[in-house]
Amino acid sequence: MTPAELIRLTALEMAEGLRNKTFSSVELTRAHFARIHEVDGTAEAGIHAFLHLNETEALRVAAEVDELRAGSQADTLHPYAGVPIAVKDNIVTIGQPTTAASKMLEGWMSPYDATVVRKIREAKLPILGKTNMDEFAMGSTTEHSAFGTTRNPWDLGRTPGGSGGGSAAAVAAFMAPWALGSDTGGSIREPAAFTGTVGTKPTYGSVSRYGLIAMASSLDQIGPATRTTADAAALHELIGGHDQKDATSLQTSWDGLLAAAQRRDLSGLRIGVLSELQGPGFSDGMRRRVDQILEMLGEAGAEVITVDAPHMRYALPAYYLIMPSEVSSNMARYDGLRYGNRVVPPGDATVSEVMAASRAAGFGDEVKRRIILGTYALSAGYVDAYYGSAQRVRTLVQRDFTKAFERVDVILTPTAPTVAVPIGEQLSDPMSMYLNDVLTIPANLAGIPAVSIPGGLAEHDMPLGLQFQGPPRAEETVYRAAGAVEHLLEQDFGAPFYTRAPELTPAIIAEGEHA
Ligand code: GLN
Repeated sequence: MTPAELIRLTALEMAEGLRNKTFSSVELTRAHFARIHEVDGTAEAGIHAFLHLNETEALRVAAEVDELRAGSQADTLHPYAGVPIAVKDNIVTIGQPTTAASKMLEGWMSPYDATVVRKIREAKLPILGKTNMDEFAMGSTTEHSAFGTTRNPWDLGRTPGGSGGGSAAAVAAFMAPWALGSDTGGSIREPAAFTGTVGTKPTYGSVSRYGLIAMASSLDQIGPATRTTADAAALHELIGGHDQKDATSLQTSWDGLLAAAQRRDLSGLRIGVLSELQGPGFSDGMRRRVDQILEMLGEAGAEVITVDAPHMRYALPAYYLIMPSEVSSNMARYDGLRYGNRVVPPGDATVSEVMAASRAAGFGDEVKRRIILGTYALSAGYVDAYYGSAQRVRTLVQRDFTKAFERVDVILTPTAPTVAVPIGEQLSDPMSMYLNDVLTIPANLAGIPAVSIPGGLAEHDMPLGLQFQGPPRAEETVYRAAGAVEHLLEQDFGAPFYTRAPELTPAIIAEGEHA
């Protein structure tokens, strides 16, 4: 197989090829670095999915896997050993920088590994590098990275979504077969939707948050970014499971996810559609495509049922109070005194002057905006009116889901109301960026699992995402639905969706646009 063919396999196909010794992990890992050097470019031109590359160490791990595979210990290897992976830059890693795309942490090296990183190291997945994101995961476009935006491989003039635009773009552009992301209000699913890839926000507590740089702790979850549902389920099994180091970690076992994703059977599945989420703000192309798909699902044996969720429209405002409140508390640790960026003003600066100068220089506008909002929402006199009301709405949203799941197995919505926006369009308009999150936020507020898969093309021939949500811990059902619909659409397209991504060449990368 040529390097160009190798990088286009799914992660599970790569794992199989390695087990059968059709190719080696060194070949596979090299092929990915060659692709990265070809299309990732720099902050100025190219995709710019990666902030740091880990080439020497990744190739060392790959060589170790190949050696073990050749020897008598081949059977002790993890089934996915040797398949490379990319990691979002807010997940801490020993031996590589972790910046969360913030000047505040520029050059910072973690003294420990996140639990998910420990697991992928134990399975011997070579880590390709750390991916770009909105600063501290705050944003929906990856334009709020302190180190330059990531560009969408489908159209370099558009954003890849955010905050995990780097992981999604790396996977879409065949620079990594799979990647880790984090999702507080949609940061795995929305970039998946915008780049024609797959992304999961697991049930809260399914995947350990130990070593994830906290944004809003009651909403954050780590999850997979992949090109297929089966790959997402496989990676979810690998990173999921109980962890003593995370007090909110569940005891549930996640062993059946891959099998569920590969079942390819929709019969008898009750798919809910929300009557409330079809209003204005949704693009026509999106609406048409989703209606078409619902019809196909009915024909394939699923039961499509309209359910109502009267409080869902308050989820977005509730999130934009709860999230900044938690952000304001989590960001307080970046004071320029203990670690991270320190700016000492000239003269006899006091401690609070050092803190203020460090924060002023270290945080970008979006992070500052959220710290201010959250501090205000939590201030005495307002805390009950804002934070308290938002928490009550959160309970109502959870109850809406509980009621809906009495009648349906999964709820299907688009992942985002529109396709990816042109770079720059939402930069000066945070409100319009926040509105993007209307469909992804409810799952975080309710702690339920949600998977986004490609649903086809809408406006400007850009991909749109289909989101499947299920009850807490019902990952198996959600993967079963997503996998079956993916298979159905694949038969309709005649090929896996990710093969439709436009070709990238060095000329396109240099020019910044597709011909
Ligand atoms: N786009 C959402 C926000 O800006 C979600 C971010 C996330 O999931 N990390 O808050």
